[in-house]
Amino acid sequence: MPKPRIGIYGLSSCAGDQLTILNCEDELLEIASRVDIKSFIMAQTGNEETNIDLALVEGTVSTIRDLERLKEIRSRAAILVAMGTCASWGGMYAMRNDIPRAEMIKGVYGEKGVEYSDSLPVPEVLPAQPLKNFVKVDLSIPGCPIEKKWFLRIFKSFLHGDIIELPSFPLCSECKMVENECLLVNSRLFCLGPVTIAGCKARCPSHNIPCIGCHGPVDEANYAGEVNILLDMGYTLEEIKRKMGIFVFNPNLEQIQ
Ligand code: SF4
Ligand code: SF4
Repeated sequence: MPKPRIGIYGLSSCAGDQLTILNCEDELLEIASRVDIKSFIMAQTGNEETNIDLALVEGTVSTIRDLERLKEIRSRAAILVAMGTCASWGGMYAMRNDIPRAEMIKGVYGEKGVEYSDSLPVPEVLPAQPLKNFVKVDLSIPGCPIEKKWFLRIFKSFLHGDIIELPSFPLCSECKMVENECLLVNSRLFCLGPVTIAGCKARCPSHNIPCIGCHGPVDEANYAGEVNILLDMGYTLEEIKRKMGIFVFNPNLEQIQ
């Protein structure tokens, strides 16, 4: 029987999810022996743009080139998986959507950066968006970057002919399971656990660091509850919006107080 054909691709992104796959050092040889990797530009040469059974796509659609590439990959892939928070929700890339380009470049590189940037060809930029805004996505793996264990579980289930369900509950549930003391309620710290999707076993709160929401928003998040606690702690709506906006929690906060 022929091996399943897969492709691993990156749109506008930091390549962290692809690196997570490459970091599966103990499993990489086994993975490579079970599938026919047709494309993985970050890891191999001789890539082939052909029909594939599974496409794993990282990053946001941030330019016209990304969009064309995504549609082209989708047209060849039986199953398309969005890898990481950028591909699933827009992630940190979407923070730039409300900031003029020149202002952003000046903030990072100063005046000299603006001068230099003006001398470069400007790509045809789009507001940074998740894959699902443009094509059918069969599954999203949350995380910035993705959790290795979830990648491996999804990969195994794909080899068995199905696709597993990922956690769909808030991070706080995992935090309770490992018996952490609550940083939001007890220590009055800005923790986004209640509105963040689980999957990391509450990694940050387990080290006394509040969750900043890198896994992205959980379905039916109780934003009103979270925002009211934070307002009560003395944060302004502007601060709450800014911190929540890092990983595209974008509720209409004025309306939910
Ligand atoms: S520390 Fe954060 S993640 Fe853990 S229970 Fe409290 S709010 Fe939820
Ligand atoms: S605790 Fe929050 S910020 Fe930390 S890894 Fe998990 S989802 Fe990301």
